[in-house]
Amino acid sequence: KANKDMHPKDTVVDIAGRKIGGGFFQVIAGPCSVETREQMTEVALDVKKAGAGLLRGGAFKPRTSPYSFQGLGDEGLKMLLEAKKATGLPIVTEIMSTDHLPLFDEVDVIQVGTRNMQNFQLLKELGKVDKPILLKRGMANTLEELLMSAEYIMAGGNEKVILCERGIRTFETSMRNTLDVSAIPMLKSKTHLPVIVDPSHAAGLRFMVEPLTMAAIAAGADGVMIEVHNNPEKALCDGKQSLTPQAFSDLMSKVSRTAAFF
Ligand code: PEP
Ligand code: MN
Repeated sequence: KANKDMHPKDTVVDIAGRKIGGGFFQVIAGPCSVETREQMTEVALDVKKAGAGLLRGGAFKPRTSPYSFQGLGDEGLKMLLEAKKATGLPIVTEIMSTDHLPLFDEVDVIQVGTRNMQNFQLLKELGKVDKPILLKRGMANTLEELLMSAEYIMAGGNEKVILCERGIRTFETSMRNTLDVSAIPMLKSKTHLPVIVDPSHAAGLRFMVEPLTMAAIAAGADGVMIEVHNNPEKALCDGKQSLTPQAFSDLMSKVSRTAAFF
């Protein structure tokens, strides 16, 4: 169902009036994690002002260490919903377990993280949901495997899948991951689904977010997802890769000029 040969026209996913894919470009921005009501709402207002179309914020966090901040869970989700109300921006947030699905009623886009790309039970359940799914590429998965995971969701009847390249594991250790820019044109040749890029998790370093965003646009991405924090030094998660609201605003001016060029 994800195959372009069967469905040559690019899919446009509509998220509360915000279109993505088929020539429509979207910027998703917000903190890695929801930390406090004040932090979430402040960042939300800032990214909206800078021109982001959708708001992100993690409440259920898939952390590598069980001793790291695990996210605020349903309390965090409530704070994210308050930020949605305050800004009118649709929200994107990660799901870790099908048990949490009832909590996601007012979530606009459900994210499946890199670590759950092949959680087939989760994918099957999301196939029954009537909401767009942002499916991130597993850090060590091929594009064929990513497309098969999309297929799991689509086979259940939910064809609103947005693919996300977020960097893969390579032998290089100076960045957190290696952004696979080639994945963008390759995926776009194989599927009609929208393809976005997450330069924040690919780089893991703030200074690389802008050049990787430009590379993603040049390669034909349908959007980007960027981590923004009002106090990156104090962030409970991924501060090193988070942009300040000012840096995000500067990036947005560059994005609008660059996107218009392509
Ligand atoms: C995220 O976007 O919050 C995240 C955890 O990303 P990834 O699954 O790509 O590591
Ligand atoms: Mn993060």
